[in-house]
Amino acid sequence: MHAIQVKRTGGPEVLEYVSVDAPAPTDNEVLVDVERAGVNYIDTYYREGIYNANVPFILGLEGVGRVSHDPRGEIAEGTLVAWHHAFGSYAEQVCVDRNRMAQVPDDFPLNIAASMMLQGMTAHYLTHGVYHLEEGSTCLITAGAGGVGLLATQMAKYLGATVYSVVSSDEKEQLAYEAGADQVFRYSDVLAEQVRRFNGGQGVDVVYDGVGQATFQESLEVVRPRGTVCLFGAASGPVEPIDPQVLNTHGAIFLTRPSLAAYTASDAEFQKRSQAVVEMIRSGHLTLRVSNEYPLEQAEQAHRDLQARKTTGSIVLNPRA
Ligand code: NDP
Repeated sequence: MHAIQVKRTGGPEVLEYVSVDAPAPTDNEVLVDVERAGVNYIDTYYREGIYNANVPFILGLEGVGRVSHDPRGEIAEGTLVAWHHAFGSYAEQVCVDRNRMAQVPDDFPLNIAASMMLQGMTAHYLTHGVYHLEEGSTCLITAGAGGVGLLATQMAKYLGATVYSVVSSDEKEQLAYEAGADQVFRYSDVLAEQVRRFNGGQGVDVVYDGVGQATFQESLEVVRPRGTVCLFGAASGPVEPIDPQVLNTHGAIFLTRPSLAAYTASDAEFQKRSQAVVEMIRSGHLTLRVSNEYPLEQAEQAHRDLQARKTTGSIVLNPRA
């Protein structure tokens, strides 16, 4: 089969389109023919070596595809399934944990199914788990027109919150408003001051910050006393270590660095979140935007575009293009 392999970590150029043997499923897995693989920022951390994996490895975590072999014979060949954590998903075939996949209706658009699990469940745990938003809550979302950002905005609005969003361009501003953001800002070192002007100086209940280094200081400034700073990513680079006393000086605020793994720790929690996301899409409460589809062999270009901030919403790779 064809796959995107990393033999040494580094820039997008280390992504190699190779021919390798298909993987063999364990008893706990099924073998799937990948229809689309989701491209996520976390993939760039593995590619760069910020997150550890033994080289050589096949990149990718998320996707949608059809079951081609179930060693236990329980799941019918051809069943359409989606997953968020099958290492090696940038490939024509991948093994998926049978307890960590969601069955997808046959009429579901493949690009949407490929992007809904990792980014959708992340948006879900941020808005329903890390800080459960409700009517009257206020939040700030950085990278508000990105994959997670557009979904978190819609979920926050669905829960009745006021959403402030931060983006880098006019096009992204438009998309953030379309997703429901109440006010959209540009990155700046007076961001906190600008946001506070819109909510009577109080600061927000929670900041969902997936940008990291470039925004973290403003995230600390913008949150209300006893509010929550949720640092969930590092698109602009990792945040330096901080002195816990800083949380006191900002008004006894909470800082958390969550992961999707921790918020889908049990099979039951995974099922609950994945079903909630699928249901929100089916009922029209959540719209996924897939801005770019690339043939699998153009994974390098996909990573370049993602890291150059050229993409909006989600992006996918097509191994069958
Ligand atoms: P996005 O589609 O949001 O792409 C990243 C966005 O970050 C860019 O489009 C850009 O938007 C913004 N950005 C700001 N500064 C930079 C910079 N210096 N370089 C590149 N991009 C920058 O990606 P994802 O939706 O896949 O992920 C968003 C964040 O969420 C990532 O940090 C990711 O690691 C994190 N994440 C965390 C999870 C968790 O469980 N902890 C799970 C899933 C994702 P703009 O141009 O508007 O600034």
